Amino acid sequence: MEKLRLSTQVEKKLKKGIVLLEKDDLSTAKAEAGLVQLVSKSGQFIVTAYLSEQNKGLGWVISDGDTELTQAFFENLFTKARESRLSYIDDPSTTAYRLFNQEGDGFGGFTVDRYGDFVVFSWYNAFVYSIKDMVVEAFKTVYPELVGAYEKYRFKGAETHSAHLYGEEAPETFEVLENNVKYQVFLNDGLMTGIFLDQHDIRGRLVDGLVTGKSVLNLFSYTAAFSVAAAMGGAIETTSVDLAKRSVELSKAHFDANGLDMANHKLMVMDVFDYYRYAKRHDLTYDVVVIDPPSFARNKKQTFSVSKDYHRLVNKALDILNPNGILILSTNASNLSVEQFQKQIAKGFEGQAYQVLSLDQLPGDFKINKNDERSNYLKVFTIKVG
Ligand code: SAH
Repeated sequence: MEKLRLSTQVEKKLKKGIVLLEKDDLSTAKAEAGLVQLVSKSGQFIVTAYLSEQNKGLGWVISDGDTELTQAFFENLFTKARESRLSYIDDPSTTAYRLFNQEGDGFGGFTVDRYGDFVVFSWYNAFVYSIKDMVVEAFKTVYPELVGAYEKYRFKGAETHSAHLYGEEAPETFEVLENNVKYQVFLNDGLMTGIFLDQHDIRGRLVDGLVTGKSVLNLFSYTAAFSVAAAMGGAIETTSVDLAKRSVELSKAHFDANGLDMANHKLMVMDVFDYYRYAKRHDLTYDVVVIDPPSFARNKKQTFSVSKDYHRLVNKALDILNPNGILILSTNASNLSVEQFQKQIAKGFEGQAYQVLSLDQLPGDFKINKNDERSNYLKVFTIKVG
């Protein structure tokens, strides 16, 4: 196995439990993809890692021993991952959740999500993709009860986004449960599936009554999952806003699945900043505003980045919020720390009083690397204004 020498600085970083290798960590600019031994300046073994370029980083540390990748290695990881999710597996009110979460479960570069009797593998780099047969065989031995799988390609150079991987084919669309609420999902249409599983704790709070009797504005709503959870938890009306036309049909499907009448639930295809103006003009106000933007977006008129512009979203929401209103402010930007996000929020309030009710991060099935704050990328503040 190839050996790569590390600087003392990088060695220290890895000893702290960071497992993501970044561009500046390795001196060899173009090392071969595959397994490597990382050694100290004096040549002493530190960890086994693999190199393969992906959206975040250049590779992953996989063990502090001299590890080879075998089917048994992955069976062991999947068995441990399964044991730590028994509370999900044994809970019939939730049938969609993450079964394997990258470095949190001991191997960066791929995830596995369960949707009822089916699963979705997501490959984040070409190396994990190259060993996928072994990974999938190991998975099947640990989860023989799951009947079929799809895969998503999330790395550069992949020719397509989504394909059937093994076993039975899932219906084009079907329903999963989360806290007994139904959501319609699709496993073989691009990278998305109709629901972001990492938000299930927030949807759980909504279902459990956080917004009972209130009016809710859901911005960047995608398939309106937050609105549906709010409605099931007793919200009296919801408005969901998303720029994508397709969001309307997909949102309706979630509402229909739960027998909710659309009379009290509006779906608007609009830019969020335009909607703020529209709401002001029409004197529309809300008890609760949920804001969950993409980390970065570019449209014809402007670019938006969470790290620079979130405060504008907060500030404009205050203009259309009823007295004692609630803001649910979410971001999935891993490059924005909790403190930096808090600063954006404070900037948006411009000195106006508010009280943080809670901070939620990734749910238990999205296991994180506790030594690396970036792996707990989701941050959701629930805030009471005034
Ligand atoms: N809150 C959603 C996920 C949001 S994903 C959920 O819980 O499921 C981000 C969404 O923002 C996408 O659906 C995208 O179409 C939408 N979007 C991006 N830029 C936008 C803009 N300027 N105005 C409105 N929607 C936007």
